[in-house]
Order: sequence, then C-alpha cells, then structure tokens
Amino acid sequence: MNLNLLNELRQIVGTGGVLSGPDEMMVYECDAFVSAKQQPQAVVLPASTEQVVEVVRAANRHGVTVVPRGAGTGLAGGCLAETDSLMLALTRMNRIEEVDIPNRCALVQAGVVNSHLTQRVSPDGFCFAPDPSSQAACTIGGNIANNSGGPHTLKYGVTVNHTLGVELVTPEGEIVWLGGRTAGAPGLDLLGACVGSEGTFGIVTRAWVNLARLPQSAHTMLAIFDDFDEGAQAVSNVIAAGIIPAALEMLDDVFIPCIEQAYKFGFPLDAAAILLIETDGLKKARARKRRRRRKYAAIRARVKCA
Ligand SMILES: Cc1cc2nc3c(=O)[nH]c(=O)nc-3n(C[C@H](O)[C@H](O)[C@H](O)COP(=O)(O)OP(=O)(O)OC[C@H]3O[C@@H](n4cnc5c(N)ncnc54)[C@H](O)[C@@H]3O)c2cc1C
Repeated sequence: MNLNLLNELRQIVGTGGVLSGPDEMMVYECDAFVSAKQQPQAVVLPASTEQVVEVVRAANRHGVTVVPRGAGTGLAGGCLAETDSLMLALTRMNRIEEVDIPNRCALVQAGVVNSHLTQRVSPDGFCFAPDPSSQAACTIGGNIANNSGGPHTLKYGVTVNHTLGVELVTPEGEIVWLGGRTAGAPGLDLLGACVGSEGTFGIVTRAWVNLARLPQSAHTMLAIFDDFDEGAQAVSNVIAAGIIPAALEMLDDVFIPCIEQAYKFGFPLDAAAILLIETDGLKKARARKRRRRRKYAAIRARVKCA
C-alpha cells in the first residue's frame, strides 16, 4: 500500500489501529463465505466516528476504495476486499453509549456485538429483538447493513423494524443522521432504504435502536412428522389459524441426523420432518393459545412439549 496513506492512517488511529502485514490480515481476507478470499491493502480499526471520517477522507485523497466490516460473519462475501481497497473494521467501536429504558431505546456504536446489548438490558426485562443465529459474534452495524433477522423474525421482525436512526459517514466523509431517537421521522424514509443496503450508502457508525420487552413466558414444542409435506402444510395451517409463534423452524430428514449427531437433542432419527415451535407472550395469553391449539386438528403429529 501507498506508504503516505499508511502513515496518514497511523496518525489518525494510532499505530496499533492499522494492520498491513499478510499474517495479521489473514482473518480479514474473507467473511463466513470462505470460498472467496482476497486480502485488502490494509485494515484500519477506528475507535470513533471522527476517526472514520478522517480515514474515509484520506482514502479519497489517495483514490483508494473503503470496504466496511463488522465481525465478518456475513454469508455472502459482502465485505470481501478488492485488491486495491482498504478495509475499515468497526470492532473497536463497541460501546453502548446510552440505554434509555423508559423510552425503550439505546444508542450503540456500530461495532457492538448483537447479544451484548441484550445482555446489558435483560436485567431490566428488555432485549434487542433481531437475533441472527450468529448473534454472539455479529455486530449491530453488520445487522443494519444486512437487515438481519433470526428465528424470532416471524413474530418480531428484522433489523429495520428495530432501527430508529443511524449515524452514517458518507463516501465523501460527511456525517449524516437518518432518523434519530424516536421512530417515524417525517419525510422520505431514507433510513428504511439504508438498512439492508450492505454499506453502499455509507458507513454506519452509531445507531439508535429499539428495545423490545422480554416475553413473560416462553414454551417450545417439537412436532414430528412421518411425511415432509404434512410438516410443510402444518406451517401454513398454523399461520392460517391466526397463531403467530415466536419461532417456527422446520428440519428435514437430511438435517435431523446431522444436528442430532452434533448436539444430541434427542430428535427422532426416523422422522421425515420436524417442526420446532416456540410460543411466547403473557402467561395468561399463552394458556389461552394452548387451549386453542389442542382443539386445532390440522397438526396431526406427535407433539412433544419442552
Ligand atoms: C453461523 C452463522 C449464522 C448466521 N445466522 C444468520 C441468521 O440467522 N440471520 C441472518 O440474517 N444472518 C445470519 N448470518 C449472517 C450474518 O451473521 C449476519 O448477516 C450479520 O448481520 C452480519 O454481521 P457482521 O457484523 O458479521 O457483518 P459483516 O459480515 O462484517 O458485514 C456484512 C455486510 O455489512 C457491511 N457492513 C458491516 N458493518 C458495516 C457498517 N458499520 N456500516 C456499513 N456497512 C457495514 C459489510 O461491508 C458487508 O457488506 C449468520 C452467519 C453465520 C456465520
């Protein structure tokens, strides 16, 4: 990489915040889509929005493209570097800056790990609802860029439904806010366009996110099917009956043995399909739903409750 740019970057973020040796950059040569690999020219690890601005401006002056990266758990090669690009990793920007329980929101830096926010607010009975299965590692900036969701998406929605505002550093190195602390800002929904744009609008540096109430109770069921199509039909029947489970995941006879071998959950190896069904909510409401489910004849399956 251009030595002048490297020196400028070191001045902006400190020597320890710039990686340029092939060994230290190995971890940045791909994300979880490991089939494609390419090392960037350098990796820079800013610790504040101001440093991100300075890095972007320096890269512009030297005609170098910038690729933002969170934890690198993406499955689509989204943060794969071009040969001549600079990777800007946000993992040092990992502070939860403000938690506002009465207004059910929090201000976080982009590099905060998804599950760390829930860990912080769960003693108060709240969580950050988007729950990609990588949530122990992935960052909220990456969640916003990919509009991620997880098993609870069916009931709680994806990241766009829980993002109130983002602070963005534009490709020109300007700081802008889209949305803010409260939902429903008037005007064009630029926030909605930005969430899920995979970093193409700019680099998300901070975000106001919504905090959801933890459910009073949760209940998990395992429904076992001897026929795959019956399992799939049961999914449609559950939704058609007006029941929105917190999670509804289906495994077929290819995946059941693989998962059983690895985790020993006790899944039946002779099943054609299984459904994992989680319901949650107020204790009383769940009891009512359970009574309704018993009456509901369309799930003709062996049902186990955990
Ligand atoms: C085991 C496993 C399970 C997974 N399960 C799910 C799942 O259930 N649901 C789901 O949706 N995804 C899932 N994923 C995919 C991935 O974890 C998510 O998309 C996650 O949101 C990516 O976050 P990240 O911090 O790792 O982002 P990265 O992989 O680092 O980046 C993803 C994209 O976002 C851009 N980006 C990252 N940070 C920023 C930023 N601050 N500003 C602008 N652009 C940025 C990058 O350039 C890239 O294009 C899974 C991945 C793995 C490995």
